[in-house]
Amino acid sequence: MKIGVIGGGQLGRMLALAGTPLGMSFAFLDPAPDACAQALGEHIRADYDDKDHLRRLADEVDLVTFEFESVPAETVAFLSQFVPVYPSAESLRIARDRWFEKSMFKDLGIPTPDFADIQSQADLDAAVASIGLPAVLKTRTLGYDGKGQKLLRKPADVSNAFAELGSVPCLLEGFVPFTGEVSLIAVRGRDGETCFYPLVHNSHESGILRLSVASSNHPLQALAEDYVGRVLKQLDYVGVLAFEFFEVDGGLKANEIAPRVHNSGHWTIEGAECSQFENHLRAVAGLPLGSTAKLGESAMLNFIGDVPPVEKVIAIEDCHLHHYGKAFKVGRKVGHATLRCPDRSTLDRQITAVESLIPHS
Ligand code: AMP
Repeated sequence: MKIGVIGGGQLGRMLALAGTPLGMSFAFLDPAPDACAQALGEHIRADYDDKDHLRRLADEVDLVTFEFESVPAETVAFLSQFVPVYPSAESLRIARDRWFEKSMFKDLGIPTPDFADIQSQADLDAAVASIGLPAVLKTRTLGYDGKGQKLLRKPADVSNAFAELGSVPCLLEGFVPFTGEVSLIAVRGRDGETCFYPLVHNSHESGILRLSVASSNHPLQALAEDYVGRVLKQLDYVGVLAFEFFEVDGGLKANEIAPRVHNSGHWTIEGAECSQFENHLRAVAGLPLGSTAKLGESAMLNFIGDVPPVEKVIAIEDCHLHHYGKAFKVGRKVGHATLRCPDRSTLDRQITAVESLIPHS
């Protein structure tokens, strides 16, 4: 089976690493000449709206999937005429736009911060008057790794904020005084079979994910599964979906969803029976899903900007290095390490050992 992937970054690369043993081959459509997935499959170098090359991709593959959600809607609609596309165009439409996403959470009874659609500075002034400060202003689309958002603490932060984010459609959200951030990675097959990985605790630095630690028997696991299950059913979703929550007042508030494999699920490559990458491929290909059970205690640390010396990373016991083969650049995710340890105290020690190799800002 040949899988077409829109995007050829590290997520595409890790999909291919998981799918190749299943007998799958891959074609990546990505305009970047140095797309790092090209080491693992065919690289169709073209823009995401290039219909000739999209048609070529569709003709060559059995199905198409995505490694990022900001794919133009017309691209998905065009491809869908010729080849099955998972997750669906509707799932992408909702997940790529914070207004549609939060409105869906509200309709499904999933707690989420207060929010308002912002099309102008006047809308923002009115929304701040009702939601209050502090609040977070976010572009409705194209935000990632803390980009496209601004924390509004005091009235002076509000006066020019709409222009500062580029005068594009935005969402204002009430600030959540969270005690932690967690994500749930779920997978749903074409037949509706659904599995969930254990909740993951996430820590960020400068808006970028630094550390994910998989939990054991998290008290909010069942609640998170209930919320995520509602979304999967609503969207008749197929593939892996990542759902990020704030932990607050002993409960959960929905932050956002990603309709794809996710950075907070990278630990599953070594830390779970079947990784999020293999399970995404199983789901979209209509194959039985694999077990999401955790193997030991597991965590993932991102390497941002640069990868520490390989020999030092792999010298740490229980540590697995994933080097994406990308050019090094400030703020860019260029690799990660997964730890899989027999117990929690060993895991904490090994996290400290990996962290000692990472220069902090
Ligand atoms: P996002 O791109 O929406 O995931 O936001 C990036 C990060 O900003 C989150 O991981 C949080 O740490 C922080 N953040 C986003 N929205 C809020 C909010 N409404 N209240 C508090 N912190 C937030």
